[in-house]
Amino acid sequence: MGCASSSNIQDTNQLDNIANTDAPTSTDRRVSLAMREKRDAQRRGDIFAESIHFDDEYQPNTTPKPEAITALIKEALSRNALMSIISELDMDVMAGFMVKVHFAKGDTVIQEGDSGDFFYVVESGVFDISVKNEVVFTARTGGSFGELALLYNCPRAATITTVEAGDLWALDRVTFRWIVARNAEDQLDECKKFLRNVPLLQELTDNQMSQLANVVQLVHFKKGERIITKGEKGNVLYIVKSGTVVCSDAGDGTTTMESIRISNGEYFGERALMTHEPRAANVTAETDVVALALDRQAFDEILGSLREVIDRNMSMRVIQSVPILKSLSASKRAVLFAALIAATFPDKTSVITEGEHGSTFYIIKNGHAIVSKSGGNDNTIEIAKLSVGDYFGEMALLNDEPRKANVIACGQLECFILERAKFVELLGPLQDILNKEAEDRKVELKAREHIEFSDLQILRTLGTGTFGRVKLARHAVSGKAYAMKVLQKSQVVAYKQQLNILNEKNILASCNHPFILKLFQTFKDQNCLYLLMEFVQGGELFSYLHCNDRPSGRLPNDHARFYASHVILALEYLHDRMIIYRDLKPENLLIDEEGYIKVVDFGFAKVCQDRTYTLCGTPEYLAPELVLGKGHNKGVDYWAYGVLIYEMCVGTSPFCGNNPSDQVQICRNILKEPLRFPSWLSGSCKDLISKLLDRDVSKRLGCNHSGITSIRSHPWFHGIEWDKMYKKKEPAPWLPTLANPLDASKFAVIEEWDDITAYEDDGSKWEADF
Ligand code: AMP
Repeated sequence: MGCASSSNIQDTNQLDNIANTDAPTSTDRRVSLAMREKRDAQRRGDIFAESIHFDDEYQPNTTPKPEAITALIKEALSRNALMSIISELDMDVMAGFMVKVHFAKGDTVIQEGDSGDFFYVVESGVFDISVKNEVVFTARTGGSFGELALLYNCPRAATITTVEAGDLWALDRVTFRWIVARNAEDQLDECKKFLRNVPLLQELTDNQMSQLANVVQLVHFKKGERIITKGEKGNVLYIVKSGTVVCSDAGDGTTTMESIRISNGEYFGERALMTHEPRAANVTAETDVVALALDRQAFDEILGSLREVIDRNMSMRVIQSVPILKSLSASKRAVLFAALIAATFPDKTSVITEGEHGSTFYIIKNGHAIVSKSGGNDNTIEIAKLSVGDYFGEMALLNDEPRKANVIACGQLECFILERAKFVELLGPLQDILNKEAEDRKVELKAREHIEFSDLQILRTLGTGTFGRVKLARHAVSGKAYAMKVLQKSQVVAYKQQLNILNEKNILASCNHPFILKLFQTFKDQNCLYLLMEFVQGGELFSYLHCNDRPSGRLPNDHARFYASHVILALEYLHDRMIIYRDLKPENLLIDEEGYIKVVDFGFAKVCQDRTYTLCGTPEYLAPELVLGKGHNKGVDYWAYGVLIYEMCVGTSPFCGNNPSDQVQICRNILKEPLRFPSWLSGSCKDLISKLLDRDVSKRLGCNHSGITSIRSHPWFHGIEWDKMYKKKEPAPWLPTLANPLDASKFAVIEEWDDITAYEDDGSKWEADF
């Protein structure tokens, strides 16, 4: 990291001169120009709301109100198209937090274009809603307006004036999002707490528990109601939340078993998750009962069968702890898990023998094994006793060295085994993987060659983001071209994006993937932060999609598949590292000089183990759970991926409606509108998009136990050679024609504007680690 001054910003004409010296072919130039004309009107900006933290002091106040007013507010909320999706519980809490505001005749409640923070319900008075000075609607008692302000801070689309004085009940965005997120988090935590009481689920990870908690159903039983009937096929596990059930008639009839009572926090029917056996007893509600129900089908869809999950968790933990396998990514580990086969060894079987050559690696699934070594004079010395979760023979995956010890089954021994040949077939030789890592590290170090800020000539603007500009830069010493993102500290602070900017820098710096933009270095000075990145010359996929030569705005199927395959490989890499990206759209996908995609702009990317709540992204690409604010995770990237494939193949995004600037409509469409496809779209493409755009996150493709593999193996991708794609060995459908390494003709000419607002240091040192 270095220090910089902005004094070396050059005359921007310089770039155009450079770019023009070797003008590209005339057709290409025509396409470039045409792209520039069309794209500006349509590029979509990011939106973001304030971050939600549960650990800070924030605690909104309730305002007491008469019951009739609470009822009026709830009624108004349920009639409002966006608000009606809020749960009954949230509505009650929201009504409690709303505050009364009086407006006199002639007062303006909302001004078109101003940024909005409040949503209003009308108690009394008359309010005109006008757009461009034309009244479009009049709101009276029970009406409501301003709901988009509860989702994020965007300019008001209408002006609201008071025609007759009256009272409004107002709710602000921070409170609203906090309530929804808090309630969702509390419910989830409670559910997880109950699930943890079930010993069969004890082996599950916290993340798996969260996934289950999302699909658990609340069920009610009346006093005396039969919940489980002996002999019937069982599918559901119940956990009692309140009330008592009686479990009777257990046993095979030869002996009478006493009835038992099950109440708060206890569970019954758990074997249904494991076996297909008939129910072993009757269970009846002794009082009114509220229970959490988890059925096997939901369980299996999300996590796979319970037996498999337990085995898988154990094997994954083991694979991760074997030193030579440690560096494998989560998806590579998953591939290995799928290749493991079970083997059973009777007591005293010799599993491996010292001195012999072997090619098998073992993980103990059940039972014990004794490790011994020859100690001279034909003696063997016992050196260890291995048990469940231990492993042996791992070096066999690497080479053909003789075994260094004996391993003998001690009682019946069940193992998972993996053959070197299988490993090589799936992932290539382990030695190559290890060598590649060393090679990557070398490349990385080389890329980190120190560059002085004063040696960078900053040229024309390549693009504008929400918080800054990206400029073309030339390293005066090597002549190499770079892209330099310039962020004004004052803007970062004004938009409360300090944490996001640090995330962007740290995440980009930690990534090393052919389809993810490389960050080389960062700089900072008094007023700005700078990210020095590779210059991706082919321009935005957005410009390419919407260039005038392509009035439909869509790509041929194979062409779309080519780009989509890079994006899914990049997402796989990020998700393996628990990074959610959250800003997928063609504007953030650049095409490099080889015609391959690079994902750029990591301003909203976040390392997230479980779930997060901050709304951010681009309206047309927001997943429903982002709009709802009840918590989201990597599933939002799969949704956006569905939107992206739709846009590439159809030419428009699926939820934008007739008026792309009507964001309320977009949000409503995302939450409710059925997905429609043009008839000419191929069946497999429709199928893939529909499965990615499943509003139920637990059913969305990519979100179940097979993860991204289920996307990669979808028939739409049939025939893609993923390894060749990753190595950029497939011919690209379009290669940008470029005159020289500084040719930026694929980027729209943007008015140069280098007004930098002076930053007043608040002393918090938020940028110290940049
Ligand atoms: P961002 O603020 O990261 O969204 O960047 C804004 C725009 O700048 C992008 O949409 C691209 O048009 C352009 N841009 C960003 N990064 C690069 C890069 N590394 N190479 C070329 N253009 C870029």
